Amino acid sequence: MALEFAEAVRRIPVYPAASAYALPEDVALLASNESPEPPLPEVVEAITSVLGGLNRYPDPTNAALRRALSDRTGVPAQRIAIGNGSCDVLLAAGDALLEPGAEVVYAWPSFSVYPHLAAATGARAVAVPLNDREEHDLDAMAREVTAATRLVLVCNPNNPTSTALSTEQVARFLEQVPSHVCVILDEAYCEFSTLDDPDASLDLLGQFGNLVLLRTFSKVYGLCGLRVGYGLAADEAFVTAVNQVRQPFFCNAAAQAAAIEALKHQDAVAARVERAVVARVELEDGLDDLGITPAQSHANFAWFDLPTPDGQDAGEHEQGIVRALAERGVLVRSGTALGKPGALRVTYGTPAQNARFLRELGDLLGR
Ligand SMILES: *Cc1c(COP(=O)(O)O)cnc(C)c1O
Repeated sequence: MALEFAEAVRRIPVYPAASAYALPEDVALLASNESPEPPLPEVVEAITSVLGGLNRYPDPTNAALRRALSDRTGVPAQRIAIGNGSCDVLLAAGDALLEPGAEVVYAWPSFSVYPHLAAATGARAVAVPLNDREEHDLDAMAREVTAATRLVLVCNPNNPTSTALSTEQVARFLEQVPSHVCVILDEAYCEFSTLDDPDASLDLLGQFGNLVLLRTFSKVYGLCGLRVGYGLAADEAFVTAVNQVRQPFFCNAAAQAAAIEALKHQDAVAARVERAVVARVELEDGLDDLGITPAQSHANFAWFDLPTPDGQDAGEHEQGIVRALAERGVLVRSGTALGKPGALRVTYGTPAQNARFLRELGDLLGR
């Protein structure tokens, strides 16, 4: 007899995992928006130092990490939700806020996890197309907020399109959303943005009681393998609710220790961002030489439409290029898998990896 699963299992999309995990060492991993740089030695040391105590459960209140985040952001510790990656906080928010009859509004294409929230809870997903600059169409999103809306997701900078909204634009949007509707501003890439100070959005928490800023140690801090992220909430009730719907020990001891140590090295974060901005310019120049103009990036990756030869299908051509690049040891993400056939998403790697990507793409496009 086959197992009988809950209805939600038929609705939840399967995560489009990058097919990178069993490849040889000289592969350029440019498909998952990871940092090309390993964790700092001090962070590795902090992780090692907790290993001998792993017979004990981790601190379920994450007290030291929340205190460190509070010191850095000025947000009181009781308004900080920690998670096993920021996706954990995101999915918990879905469970805490959504149910059949409720609606969640988000842009599309955007983060591939967002459709899970409605699928898992039976709520209705309202996906609002991006504008022609590949940015959130905030006016269109505001028009989709109804009496049934419980949650709005704004990804800034947006994955997979790399574009960003100014804090001013976000503030004007928030003014249009009723105060009982939770708005999660997903800022996984905010450190890479040159549009605004990455911490400018912290001020919005004082103005909008329904706002949550979602941040992570997975991207600029280079700790995605460990899984730790957090939400900064305007309302303490958000933290209580996401903790109610999860298992008690949602952040492991090594992750807590690593995150606390990583926060002490803001100069290293700034240096990483500088290197990412150099990579951005190098990729933009290299793509320009191939006749390609990427979207205006404020993240650690580029997003662009591939030129399609006459008579070919854009999606099929793009998927062929993704496969051919993989065969040459360069892994990038297919736009087809992310909601826009014909587009590519390429994470900034080391200078050598970026040059290799440009060389191989140029060769495949016959330039
Ligand atoms: C990578 C990413 C995250 C981070 O997920 P973690 O669970 O913290 O690793 C969150 N949101 C977006 C849009 C991302 O691209």
